[in-house]
Amino acid sequence: MKSHRSPIVVGNWKMNTDRRSAVELALTTSKGLGSTAPGVEVGVCPPYVYLDAVASALREARSPLAVGGQDLYFESLGAFTGEISASMLKDVGATLVIVGHSERRHVIGETDFVINKKVLTALAAGLTCILCIGETLEQRQAGQTDAVNERQLRLGLVGVDADQLGRLVIAYEPVWAIGTGKTATPADAQRAHKAARGVLASLYGPAAANGIRVQYGGSVKPDNAVELFAQPDIDGGLIGGASLKADDFLAIVRAAGRSG
Ligand code: PEP
Repeated sequence: MKSHRSPIVVGNWKMNTDRRSAVELALTTSKGLGSTAPGVEVGVCPPYVYLDAVASALREARSPLAVGGQDLYFESLGAFTGEISASMLKDVGATLVIVGHSERRHVIGETDFVINKKVLTALAAGLTCILCIGETLEQRQAGQTDAVNERQLRLGLVGVDADQLGRLVIAYEPVWAIGTGKTATPADAQRAHKAARGVLASLYGPAAANGIRVQYGGSVKPDNAVELFAQPDIDGGLIGGASLKADDFLAIVRAAGRSG
């Protein structure tokens, strides 16, 4: 049973929307939430430049929808052109942040070392930190899925203390499934999640590992969410494309609400 872990569904808007459509999407999503899925934690991550507008609009609407950054930098201030600190995110109302997304790893070139510094920074700042892990197609075909996930978890979590785990969320996102329309089968995803939880157990003990939420991400849509989220080690999802359509995102949130 996973009833002791509340599911978390987060929309990653990536480099989409403009100021007006970002606020509109957030408010439409928020309105639709209503009492849709009471036990589900729900958030959206707009582009940095629209965070303030989105967070303000949601605050005004007294919305339970959380707002997060798509990334952050590990230094607190100074000469780091183009970067955003944890305190800046908090200053505009963000309560969560995504770290180590596959596009940061594979397009921007972030290393596990940098990602670990970001995880430590986010957790120390009191943000909920979603650490993304996942194998590429090549790694999967070479039978390296579990080894890649284990390495990304162990290196990403260096120095993370047991008392910070309540704010840690892992997102397992097979890279080949992100934005491609291809999804891991529920059984495949469950297998990878179970293995990841095993690594967490070896780091923090089985009881603590059992309390850590592990989301699935990679082409989650309303028509596959129910089956994915029903798996015993899947605790909601990190949603890209489908989070840009309020109706689809809300259907996915409802699926998470039925998954306990
Ligand atoms: C993502 O960006 O984290 C993601 C899972 O994207 P998509 O849902 O579009 O595959």
